[in-house]
Amino acid sequence: MTDLDVLEKVKNIIGNVNISKPYKPKGKETYKQTYKIAIHGAKAIGWMQTIYLFLSERRQQKIQECITSFKNKKRIPRPQRGDVWGPKCHPNRKRITFDFCQSCYMKEYRKKKKNLLEASLC
Ligand SMILES: [Zn+2]
Repeated sequence: MTDLDVLEKVKNIIGNVNISKPYKPKGKETYKQTYKIAIHGAKAIGWMQTIYLFLSERRQQKIQECITSFKNKKRIPRPQRGDVWGPKCHPNRKRITFDFCQSCYMKEYRKKKKNLLEASLC
């Protein structure tokens, strides 16, 4: 989009997104500078559903395709930008693996290593 003020309004509504640096398509020197905002995943699906009724039939159909494809994808759920999902062991700490914080991960690692060592000695 070429209107920065419109994108700033959108940014204020959506919140927690960045507007890209201005750019021009290569070889299109007469074009205006362009900006963009990108949101992904569940947040994007939520916004698509919010504006769905205001869009044309063609775009509504595209949104339905996006939602179907999003639901059918197999993925590990990730937190949205700005959100933090803690580990299962200590939800307030930083997550190192899917389930563990750093100290619990190291405890598990040492326990496994010790068990392997004991198994090899017997
Ligand atoms: Zn932990």
